[in-house]
This record gives sequence, structure tokens and C-alpha cells, in this order.
Amino acid sequence: MRIHQIYVDNNLRNYNYLLACENTRQAIAIDPLDHKRINNLALEHNYIITKIVNTHDHHDHIEGNLPLLENWDAEVLAHHQASHIPGFTTGVFPGDNINFGDQNLVALDTPGHTLAHICLLFTDDQANPEQAPAFFSGDTLFNAGAGNCHNGGDVNLLYETFVNQIYNLDDGTRLYPGHDYLINNCQFTLDREPDNVAAKLLLEQLKPHDPNNPHITTLGEEKTINSFLRLNSKTIQQKLQQELALNPEIDNIEKAVFVALREKRNQW
Ligand SMILES: [Zn+2]
Repeated sequence: MRIHQIYVDNNLRNYNYLLACENTRQAIAIDPLDHKRINNLALEHNYIITKIVNTHDHHDHIEGNLPLLENWDAEVLAHHQASHIPGFTTGVFPGDNINFGDQNLVALDTPGHTLAHICLLFTDDQANPEQAPAFFSGDTLFNAGAGNCHNGGDVNLLYETFVNQIYNLDDGTRLYPGHDYLINNCQFTLDREPDNVAAKLLLEQLKPHDPNNPHITTLGEEKTINSFLRLNSKTIQQKLQQELALNPEIDNIEKAVFVALREKRNQW
């Protein structure tokens, strides 16, 4: 599978994706916003866009649907509860396979950023069996961060998604998020956890950071730099306890930390 990660140079710093099966030239567009570039890339590489997939219904993840449909006879897939998305043809359920040529993505139902949100997991490349898994996370998981919950989301559900699904992904899985927030989020990590050496080193290494040629993290690396995957860090817990008077005896300290981190990031 060929992955084109397309940085949209807008205020929201979106990433769009065009994935292609190199045998059949069939391609799939994920969260299209910059439809012109996606279209041109497809033409340049002789791809046939057969599917468009939206991880969720926020405008910056769906605006390219209709313009792409003017050029391509493509199915539009999204969470089965997001049928209001422009051009929607096919509802996606947890565990569904989304094929393009010889390649296949598996859909995960990942509520939290919005109630209807899917992530896409790629695990098996027929042509390159040694290729590591890839995870297209929309606005659920970012490099060194997590999606916000203030446009139709629910932080309790986001926590459940992290604990029950994101944590279970293989450490070698490469992360392809919906936005480029890596630098900001690493700085947030250091605000919460000043002794986080991995985040410090990565920030050094990323000078200058080029979102058009980004550093691809793995889930294993995320577990070292992403506060939302470091809920048992004593530094993070103690700092929040001092600031918010979190009770260390409460049943689920990690959930309380997750919710408090999300709140801190909203105001950061
Ligand atoms: Zn969003």
C-alpha cells in the first residue's frame, strides 16, 4: 500500500490521506479537504479513487467529498450514525473491512471527539508483508495528544476509546492523525511532565519541523511522549493532584487524570 500524507496548509493544520493499492491503482481518500491536491495526486499516479472515507462529520474532514465526487465515481463511507455527511452512501460498523484493490482497512468505532467517529487500521500488506501496521486516527489520537471533546464529543467516551482500543494497538503501529499538532502537543507534554526526556529530545530533533515531511511516530513512541497514554506517570498525577486537588484514593485515578488532562489542554 502506498500512503500519501497530504498536509493542508490551513489554520487547522489538517492532514488528508490518499491510500493506494499499487497493483490495481485503486485508491481511497480519507477526510478530504484539499480536494484539488487529492485529485491531482490521483491523476499524476494513475489512481482510480473508488472510495472516500470520513472519520467524522466535522467540516474540515468532509468538505472535499462533493468536489471529489464530481470527478470520481466513488462510494462515501462513514460511521453508520453519520449518514448526514455529504455524498454518504455506506454506513460503517465496528470491525467492517474497507477494501481498495488488494488492500484492506479495518474500521474501529472510536467515540469521544464526536459520538460517531471511526478510525482505520491497516495491518496486512499483501505486496510488502514486512510493512508495519498503520493507524488513521482522525481526531481521536494525535501525535503526543488526544482530540478535544467540545464539538459534540464526550470525554468519558474518549477515555473508554483510549483504554479499550488505542492502548491495545501494537507498539510498532505507525500513527497518521487528522491534524499536525506535534510540536504544540510535545510542549504540552513538557508542561505536564517537565522530566519527560523523550518529549524533550523529540522537540530538539524536530527543529525545524516540516509538516510536509513529518516525523511519523509509532504507538510505542507515543507511549513515551503522549500524556494521554501516560496516565500512570507519577509526575503527571502528582502535578494534577496539586493543582486540582484530585483525590489519590479515588477508584479510577487514571480516568480522573485523563479527564483533567483534556481540560488542561483545552485551556493551554
Ligand atoms: Zn474534528
